Amino acid sequence: MTSDQRIAGIELGGTKVVCGIATAAGDVLERTSIPTRGPDETLTDIRAWLEPRLDGVTGLGIASFGPIFVDPASPRYGRIGATPKTAWQDFDLLRAIRRWTALPLALDTDVNAAALAEIRWGAAKGHDNVVYVTVGTGIGGGIVSSGRAVHGLMHPEIGHMKPRRLPDDDSDGLCPFHGDCFEGLAAGPAIQARWGRPLNELSADHPAFAMEADYLGQLAVNLLLTASPTKLIFGGGVMNCTELLPMIRDAAARHLNEYLDLTGPSNGEEELIVTPGLESNAGLLGAAALVIDAA
Ligand code: ZN
Repeated sequence: MTSDQRIAGIELGGTKVVCGIATAAGDVLERTSIPTRGPDETLTDIRAWLEPRLDGVTGLGIASFGPIFVDPASPRYGRIGATPKTAWQDFDLLRAIRRWTALPLALDTDVNAAALAEIRWGAAKGHDNVVYVTVGTGIGGGIVSSGRAVHGLMHPEIGHMKPRRLPDDDSDGLCPFHGDCFEGLAAGPAIQARWGRPLNELSADHPAFAMEADYLGQLAVNLLLTASPTKLIFGGGVMNCTELLPMIRDAAARHLNEYLDLTGPSNGEEELIVTPGLESNAGLLGAAALVIDAA
């Protein structure tokens, strides 16, 4: 694929959809944002914006919230799975898009796609074992192993692993499936429920920061010990509190107790746990990366 070829992308998130046109070199030419509602209204708006822009486009990438069936061999390929967003449960996303375009389609989770984009253009250039975590209204994570996004039984859903609960945390946890999984204890809504405010309205010496950093530090340790990434990226709205990242590094180091070297194997000076390089374009460029990888 030549670098000036144009690719369409859809990043389907829980609260908003980003649609855009990018080049194969990773430049975003045009983008728009649409609020996520029920599938029919949302897909109507996506089509209205994208369809007139598809002339000369080589493919359409879709980076969706999960769970979604991403194995082309599955009879449920392209369908949304057991999401708390009940209107979307079992919705056949790929089929709904296929109705109005014959372009080659590529599909993965928003976080797997973002990991691929960060490798190609962002904070993980030159790395091929990378984990991308997003901490926002939920906690999700994409894992790229030896250059390929991990799929299997489903795809990674790292937010639903269980942390060791902190003794001074008496909240029940908000996950409708598990209560006190990482998402239930440490996503944005859990912070709001526990402290009555989002993290960005509290100062870094408030106990909310230490608790959040400890949970995300535990999550980092679990990921480092399983997926063995050489870059572990933490993005999402909660990470806009810039004081949090060094606190997560400290918490991870404390939990690891010198078992791993957190400076990263490729370059002793380079940080292993970092924030995204592509910021708000990670999902959209991730969708474009899916098309490039499939070509
Ligand atoms: Zn859960």
